[in-house]
Parts: sequence; structure tokens; C-alpha cells
Amino acid sequence: MLAALAPPGELPRMPTSLLTKPVARRPGEVRLSGRILYLTNAPELVTAQLQGKDLDWDPSIPLRDNISTDEITPAYICYYFDETLGEFPYLGFKAGDDFPIARGSVKAGGFVASVAGKRRGKGSSREQSPYAEMCAGIRLVVGESIERIYRENCQNLGVLTTTDFGVLERVKRGETIPLSVFTDGEGQITRDIIEYGGLFPYNVARLQGKVTVSACATPPRPMTVAEKIFARHWVVDAARGQAGVPAVRPGDEGFFLTDIRFSHEYVTPMAAIFFDQLVGADEPLNDPSSIFFFRDHLTFLDQVMRPEHVEMGLLDVAAQLERKQREFAAAKGVRLYGQLEQRLNLTGALAAAGSEAICHSKILEAHALPGQIIIGSDSHTPHAGAVGCVAFGVGTTAVFNSWITRDVRVQVPKSFRVVVRGRKPANVTAKDFMLQILRHPYVKDGHAIGQIIEYAGDAVEALSVDERATMTNMAAEVGAFTGIIAPDAKTVDYLVTQRGMDRAEAERCCAGLFSDPGAEYVQAIDIDASMLKPMLALPGDPGNGLFIEELDGPVRIDIAYAGSCTAGKKEDMDMYARVFRDGLERGQRVAPGVTCFIQCGSREVFEYCRQQGHDRVFADVGAVFVEPSCGACINAGPGVSRKPTDVTISAINRNFPGRSGPGQLYLASPYTVAASALAGRITAWEPEPVPAGV
Ligand code: SF4
Repeated sequence: MLAALAPPGELPRMPTSLLTKPVARRPGEVRLSGRILYLTNAPELVTAQLQGKDLDWDPSIPLRDNISTDEITPAYICYYFDETLGEFPYLGFKAGDDFPIARGSVKAGGFVASVAGKRRGKGSSREQSPYAEMCAGIRLVVGESIERIYRENCQNLGVLTTTDFGVLERVKRGETIPLSVFTDGEGQITRDIIEYGGLFPYNVARLQGKVTVSACATPPRPMTVAEKIFARHWVVDAARGQAGVPAVRPGDEGFFLTDIRFSHEYVTPMAAIFFDQLVGADEPLNDPSSIFFFRDHLTFLDQVMRPEHVEMGLLDVAAQLERKQREFAAAKGVRLYGQLEQRLNLTGALAAAGSEAICHSKILEAHALPGQIIIGSDSHTPHAGAVGCVAFGVGTTAVFNSWITRDVRVQVPKSFRVVVRGRKPANVTAKDFMLQILRHPYVKDGHAIGQIIEYAGDAVEALSVDERATMTNMAAEVGAFTGIIAPDAKTVDYLVTQRGMDRAEAERCCAGLFSDPGAEYVQAIDIDASMLKPMLALPGDPGNGLFIEELDGPVRIDIAYAGSCTAGKKEDMDMYARVFRDGLERGQRVAPGVTCFIQCGSREVFEYCRQQGHDRVFADVGAVFVEPSCGACINAGPGVSRKPTDVTISAINRNFPGRSGPGQLYLASPYTVAASALAGRITAWEPEPVPAGV
């Protein structure tokens, strides 16, 4: 089936000041002068390297797998948005039980290459991580496998990446290395980006006609829904305003017109600085009406920042993020979903101000439409895939370039399909589906990295759009490029009831957005929902899933956190309220010694809770109902743990070390979080059986 051509709209236009900017390819050989840092599981080996002893590495020495960007640059480090970041790479890196890397030690060590195990750079899409490595002197990152966004961020910044460990001997011997070692096997655009030393110089060369993008030559073929969306958005001729090709296939590489671009206060300021410095402070952004900024991550930071971080001046540094984004939004005419004014709470006290919305929550609630391409400065951008968008996270440099070009480069990924069939038990949710998927060997062993996960099956069709968003959101934890669910009658209903769209228009939006019979998937995973039970993920990684009943013994909790973009939607609030109402009827309240926080993803959800009376239920049961924000999810708000012995049950999407404080963080569904808050230990919610005949 041929994909319909997208309306041309406003296609790439670059500021004329870039037409004369000098730009050239790098030499065909590179010499990487410096030491090699092996990020191993053994803290003493890391310490020895930092003290100047080169490691005589051999494959029997285990490298650390799953080093997340939270470990490379913990959230509080990302308050910096300039070269100061070079002081901090790997500050959250854990080897054994230790954190062996201190401020300034990597930069002082003279390292040019850094080597790790599987799934290097997983987690958050923060470009501060490779930027911190680059500013500390790292020019080459090596991993047994490297996560997509992190790898693209490296390429966009001009940092070389490889999974070929053979390069290390050549670095060690100080040999020149052909640049082709890093470009072989890549598509033409990626090769050119590497050769030009980053995305911005490449785009300048594109503007100046020094590089051309090959035409898409894929003939009509059966396509997945995501491939159809890519085909509709392929930029054919920027100058003539043409977009859309008959078909694409995995591996095709091109530029794609975006419908929505968004970023939050962790990223906008760094991108704004790049724009001001490299393009010009007075230059306009390309189509600011389709750009959105969010103040969501750090709204409550002042309440939880550790005293030593306050003393380091980090609160002031973080305040600059808010100010820079606000000023840039005003200067460029971009809609900013900002910080709320302080307001009176239920008891009449002046409560802390929250955010208008978490970025993903608002994009789904108010903006995303089926068939769109959406890019965001955050790994959970796939959230909007719940209504059939191709939505994916990009780094700071890609955001900044999209402000110039309105397009984004992509190599069309392979797709794999997860079919969830059957009738799920009443206490099993989309979060449980995801924890089950995340422990599947295909995902756990890293095969899904960079692929598109398409969810299907009658158990997925039965989910609301809110619950579907939990699944597409957590495509980030899968390591996938994005997650998508083909739009259907539920999507149409959502657009009508949530957006107030005309039904016929909503149906038009969804038309043709299905995967063709014969579409190509590299893997199919089948899950029987009727066999699932409430799950949790043990601390350390969302892939550490198991059924709650498989726990060795009782796990008492100190904190129950019910919120975030993943679990702060209307239906999540309904789930918390349902369990708490049940509990109140049984005379239960939040257990002594447990603090339970409930936090909505947006002001709209907060108001919904008031309309439904959920806020009264939360108050009656003894939970703390916090204003909307990312907050504890990013170690920056009420609900974070304070000490390593704290135990948290949380409905958020990831539990990498240090993500929400120093404690032990278990992931679970909204039902499980609420039931555990009442019990004081991790437990599944057991609803009253429905009487026969009802
Ligand atoms: S709630 Fe958590 S996962 Fe979602 S955008 Fe905020 S920090 Fe990221």
C-alpha cells in the first residue's frame, strides 16, 4: 500500500547567515592520543587507572554492563549546561558497591577513550553525558553494545563510537586510524555526520550544497504502521517543499519532517546556547508554533536538594536553567508550559508550586495526533505512540538543529512485535505487561536496542489510551527507538472526548494507519495476559522483573511514590483511588512509618482528581497529594529516598542506581504501589471477587 503524501507544510529553511560559514570534512585518518579508561566491575581496577596505572586488559576482566546516562552524569550534574560538565563524567558510576570516580579525576587522567560492556548509555537521553565525556577529553567511546540515543548524541557532538574492540590496540600504540573504521556499515548521512565532525557542521554543509542526501529508492512494499508514517514524512526536496515517498524499509536513511518538537528545562538552555553561539542570538526559530518548552523536571528541587549540593551552589546553577529557558521562549515566541504560582492547599496553607505539566503528559493530552512524527528532548517521548505517532527522544544537538531545519535525521529502524493476548486478571495492568516484556531475553540481552516495538493483540486493544501510554512510554526502558500502537476506535474516542475533536476528523486522522499484512518484523513475542500476575522490578534495573509472589520474603517499605509521566495520568489516579477507597472501607490508612506521595502528570489530571473526589480519598487515607512535576522520578522532589536503607515502591518507569535517591527502589503498577502503601510492605492488590451474575 502506498503511503499518502504529507502536505508539504513548511520545509527546511536555514538562516542565511549559515550560507557563508566555513565548514569542511575531517581528515581521512584520526590519531587518538591519550590513555584508555576501562569501566570495569572491580572498583580497585578503576581506581588504579585513575591513579595513573594503565590496565592490562583482557576479556576475562568483566566490564560494567548497563551503564546508564544517570551514572555518567547524575541528574544534579546536568544543572550545568556548559564545558564545566567536563569535571563530572561517571560521577554516578557504580563498580561493585563503590562509586570510584570523583570530580575532575577523568579529566586529570588524560583519557582519550572509554570502554564499557553491553548497553552502554542506556536510560535518559541526556546529551550532557557524552558532552561531559567530551569535555573531559574522551574522543572515543567503546561498548559491547551502545544505546541508540547515546550513540547518536556522540555522533552529533563529534565523538567517535565503536563496538569493535580491535581499535583499542591501535589507540594504545598511538597509530593513526582510518576514519572509515568508524563509518563503515553506516548509512550515507551518518557517515557524512561523522566525517564533518557533528550534526551542526553537517547541516551547514547540507545548506551550502556540499553534501546531498540520496533519494529514497524503496519500491512499494508491505509496511508497518511506523514505516508508513516515516514514508509520509520523508523530506524529498526541501527547496520545493516536497515530502513523502511511496515506501521505506529498515536501513533507509533520510531526513524527516517533524510535526512537533519539544524540550524541557534540562535541555533547552544548552540547546539555546548552541543556537546563540553557532547560529546567532537574533535569528528566528523555524516554525515556533510547533515547538513547546516545559518546566517540569526541577520544579521542587529546592525542597529536596542535599545541603552539600546547596553549598556547592547547585541550587543557583539549577535556577539558571529555568531562567534561560523562560527568556529564550519569550524571545523566540515559543509556548512554555511553565511553573505554577504558589497556591493554597486543602488545609489553607501556602503550598509549593508545581508545573503546568510534565512534557509527555501534555503532549499526549493536548497535541499529539495519529500519524505524526514527534521529537522530544527526553527518552520517554515514545509516550505519544499511544495514539499512533512515531515519537522518539533526541539529544540536545538534534533539538537545536531541528529549530533550524524542522527535520530530523533517522535511519529507519527494524521493528519487532509484541502481541499480548487474552484476558488479564483485574489486578494486572499495562505496567505489569511492561515488566514482563522487560525481562524477556530478547529485550534483556539488548537485541531490541534501537528497534521499534509495535504492541498489538486483544489485551492491548482492551487498554485505554492512558494505559497504552504506559507501554509506549516504557519503550525507553526496552532500549527501543520508539513504541507504537496502531490507532483504533479507542484512539478515535480519546481524540473526541479528550481533545473535543469532531469524530469524522478524528477518524480521518487515523485512516490508513495500520500495519500491512506481510509487514516485516525481526522478532515476534507473544504474551498470554491471562497467565500474568502483579509484578515488580527489583532495585537496580527495570529488567529485574518477577511476580510479587516470587519474592523470597516480606519487603517492608518506607516510601510509596505514585506519579510521573508513566503513572500520573487520569487512569493511574483512578487506580490509586480505587485501592484507597477499598482500603478506607476496610478501615485501612497508609501504614505507620510509610509516606505515600501522589503526584499528577499535569494540572489537568490534578483538576480531574478534584472533580472525581480522588483528592479527598488521598487525604483521608493519609497520602500526600503533591502538585504536578517530575519530582521524585528524577531525584528532584518530594518522594526521593534519603539514605541507602530507605525502601521505596514506585510506579515510575526506571530504577537505575541513584535515580530517585540513594535507597532501594522497586518498580510496580499503580495498584501495587497503593496496596503496598496500605500494607507497609510490598503486596499485590487483591480486589474483592465480583459476585456471580454481576
Ligand atoms: S516523570 Fe520521570 S521519566 Fe517522566 S519525564 Fe519526568 S523525569 Fe522523565
